[in-house]
Amino acid sequence: MSNLLIIEDEVSIAELEKDYLELSDFNVTVEHTGNKGLERALKEDFKLIILDIMLPDIDGFEILSKIREIKNTPVLLVSAKKDDIDKIRGLGLGADDYITKPFSPSELVARVKAHLSRYERLTAGRENTNEIIEIRGLKIDKTARRVWVNGEEKNFTTKEFDLLTFLAQNPNHVYSKDELFRKIWEMESVGDIATVTVHIKKIREKIEFDTSNPQYIETIWGVGYRFKV
Ligand code: CA
Repeated sequence: MSNLLIIEDEVSIAELEKDYLELSDFNVTVEHTGNKGLERALKEDFKLIILDIMLPDIDGFEILSKIREIKNTPVLLVSAKKDDIDKIRGLGLGADDYITKPFSPSELVARVKAHLSRYERLTAGRENTNEIIEIRGLKIDKTARRVWVNGEEKNFTTKEFDLLTFLAQNPNHVYSKDELFRKIWEMESVGDIATVTVHIKKIREKIEFDTSNPQYIETIWGVGYRFKV
C-alpha cells in the first residue's frame, strides 16, 4: 500500500481527499500546518505528497523547494488561485503537477495514480544502476545497503555500514578517529571517539579473514585508519 502525505490546513478538504484516497487503497497521513508537514515530508518516505500552497505558517512553494533540496518524491500542488499556476510554472520548482480548487475528488485520485505509476516506471529503470563498490572479495551495494564478503552476505548496523562505505570510497587515505567520528556520527566530536574503535573492530570481524592481520582496514598507529586497495 502506498503512503501518501496531505499537507492541507482546511480540515474539511483534507478529510475529503483522505477519504477518497483511502477508498482507492492508499495509506494517507494528514498534516494541517506547513512546518509539521515539511518535517514529516523530509523525515519519512512518502510515495507522493499533496501540498496545498496557501498555508498559515510557511507556504507550499517554500515547502516544495525545501523538499527538492533532498528528495524527488512526487509532489502534487493544490492551489486556490489561478494566478498560482503561472507562478508554479515560472519558479520551476520541480512540482510534478498542480490542481486548482475546487476539484473533484475523483480527479485528484486519478492524478495521484497517474503520477505514482509514472514515478514507479522511472525508478524501476534505476534499479539496475545500484551503486556498487568492489574491492577484492568485498562487495558493497550502496543503494541497497548490503555487503558481501567472498560472496557471503554479512549484516551491518547503520553506522558500521556508513563507516565501512566511507573508508572504502576513500581508499589509501588515512583518517584519524576524530575525523571519522565527525564524518559518520555527524556531530562535533564531543562524543567518545572510542566508538570508532569499537565499530572498526566489529567491521573487521565481519570482513577480515584474520582480524590480527587486516587486509582491508589498516591501523596506522598513532594516527588512525586507512582502507587498503
Ligand atoms: Ca489552504
